[in-house]
Formats: sequence, structure tokens, C-alpha cells
Amino acid sequence: MKQKPSLSNINNWIFDLDNTLYRADADFFSQIDKKITLYISKYLKIPETNARLQQKEFLRDYGTSLSGLMDVYNMDPEEFLEFVHDVNLSFLIPQPKLRENIQLLKGRKFVFTNGSRKHALNVTNHLNLNDLFDGSFGIEDTNYNPKPNENAYDIFCEHYQIDPNSAIFFEDSPRNLIIPKKMGMKTVLVTSDIDYNHEFNSKGLEINDNITDWIDFKTNDIESWLTEHILSE
Ligand SMILES: [Mg+2]
Repeated sequence: MKQKPSLSNINNWIFDLDNTLYRADADFFSQIDKKITLYISKYLKIPETNARLQQKEFLRDYGTSLSGLMDVYNMDPEEFLEFVHDVNLSFLIPQPKLRENIQLLKGRKFVFTNGSRKHALNVTNHLNLNDLFDGSFGIEDTNYNPKPNENAYDIFCEHYQIDPNSAIFFEDSPRNLIIPKKMGMKTVLVTSDIDYNHEFNSKGLEINDNITDWIDFKTNDIESWLTEHILSE
């Protein structure tokens, strides 16, 4: 195992939202995942099984289904975002210890999601984390350029004037960490047994591939990871 990089200069903490700030096994994201299938099915007037395949192809090729629908079908994003993020938040249980740990981090903290900004605010409010963040960046803020496209990260860093060398990125989707690492950020992959990102063969980035090149740390529990790597120093 390669030597772990120093984290002493980190003062920008960037968190993906879904399946990162809450655990994937909360079974919350499955609601969104299913609503995306349903929306594609209705929008393209195709059976749900076909819509499901289309959804995963869009995810693989465009970063999000939304971007695929916008690019190929010129779809209006707003109705889509309203529909797919209209989900039951009660599956998510606030974690006071996670709140405490994020609060203790020195520097600025951000949420950067491929979902809408409103979704980020709904979820972080429900989890009692919202007031800890200096900004929540949604898909509309990147002009509908989703991660893992390089543009998305450039727009985000430019907006908040973030020096990538002082930043760390937490994400559950391995391919969304490739650009952050190239830019100079530290990267933490948040893992779980439940996986929404690898139902497809993603351009050689399958879960079993050797992905340690651009991933500095891996954890299935952000709260403990922060305690161990940052707050106990
Ligand atoms: Mg995620």
C-alpha cells in the first residue's frame, strides 16, 4: 500500500451528498433511483425495463440521466428534478456524532451533488447538517454539467475560489474522484455493500478494477474516518 498523503493543510472539505453524507444502506437513494426510471419511462413512452437500461446507459455516458435526457432529447431539467427528488426523507436518520465531527473540521465545508441544490438543502436540513456548510452546489449551479466532467469541478472551484491543493473530496462514486485527484485534491471513497454506480460496465471502471491510483483513502464510515484521520491528530 502506498504511503498516505498528509492532510495537515486541508481547509476545504467537499462532500458529495447521496450515499456519502448518509449511508447507502439507509435505502434512501433507491427511491430516487426508481423515480428516475419511472420518469424516463413516461417521458420516452417506453416500458420500465427499457427505461432502466436507458437510465444506466445515460449514467455511464453522461454522468447523470438528466444530462443524457437534456442532450439527446432536449428535455427541460426542472420538472425532472422536482419529480425525482420528491421522496420520503424519513428513511434518513440524523447522526449527531457525524454532525459533531463535521463541525470540528477547520476550514470551509461544501456539498457538491449531481442532484438539485434544493435536494441538497432538503437532505442536509433533515439530517441537521445544513448550517455546517458554507455552500451547497447542485447540478443547476454547474450549468447542468455533472461530475465526473471536468467542467463541473472547474465551475465549482472557481465559484468558491478553492485551491484544489487545500481540498479533500468525499464521494461514493469512484469515477467522480478522478478529476479531483488530477486537480490536486485528496480523495476519500465512501463505500458500502449497496452499489448504485456499478450496475453498468463503466468504461473499464468496474468495482473490481484497481482504483487505488486516484483514491487516497477508502472508508465505509465517514464519521469514524474523520475521528481517526483528522480529529485525533
Ligand atoms: Mg453519491
